[in-house]
Amino acid sequence: MNIVLMGLPGAGKGTQADKIVEKYEIPHISTGDMFRAAIKNQTALGLEAKSFMDQGALVPDEVTIGIVRERLSQADCEKGFLLDGFPRTVPQAEALDATLADMGKSVEHVINIQVEQEELIKRLTGRRICKECGTAYHLVFNPPQEEGKCDKDGGELYQRADDNPETVSNRLEVNMKQTQPLLDFYGDKGVLTNIDGQQHITKVFADIDALLTNHRK
Ligand code: ADP
Ligand code: ADP
Repeated sequence: MNIVLMGLPGAGKGTQADKIVEKYEIPHISTGDMFRAAIKNQTALGLEAKSFMDQGALVPDEVTIGIVRERLSQADCEKGFLLDGFPRTVPQAEALDATLADMGKSVEHVINIQVEQEELIKRLTGRRICKECGTAYHLVFNPPQEEGKCDKDGGELYQRADDNPETVSNRLEVNMKQTQPLLDFYGDKGVLTNIDGQQHITKVFADIDALLTNHRK
């Protein structure tokens, strides 16, 4: 099961990805998480990515494609994978196709989670993330049981540096420009499914699950 999850920042990709990988037992590959881990560990990749991320800009394609290609070659991706936040540009999508073709694979499902801009801004500015496991909460829409603490591991919740109002508007603008050509790219290949992301978290997952369950039959 080779899946790409698409949607603007704040659409709920990370939230749904957690549920998909738990049920379908495939690795969750998030380029944003990989970059944040690299920054935390102060690697060369982290240093390079940080300046772009701080502005809400995209990290250059050659850097991003390189880390994804390496990740997909690892053994745990053999039975499938869930890509979250990649590809975000047509060159990235073309590079992904070429990488998978070399391995005798292809993208089977592109799931596009649709949410309106006004709602995205509310979601991003109220988002809080667990320092330990990266689970996303929301101050209003999806609060933890105990304020400031992760339900799963008690980890401290923090606000991502790029979830401030100024960076959020730039991220949305940058991503909106890149998204339509990508949707056309996958639409033409007949692998694209749009999902209404403006429903309760459990209902969004039910819609995704129905699509993937059908695939298995
Ligand atoms: P993305 O990975 O697409 O940027 P997240 O999964 O981190 O998005 O979700 C963004 C924010 O919106 C988080 O605070 C999350 O708790 C909240 N959220 C996710 N899905 C929903 C939903 N269906 N309804 C309301 N809030 C949601
Ligand atoms: P979001 O919650 O906004 O969907 P991510 O965690 O996926 O954000 O990404 C955070 C940042 O990491 C982006 O604003 C961008 O700078 C960088 N990034 C993540 N994925 C990519 C990608 N495929 N191409 C270029 N930059 C990326």
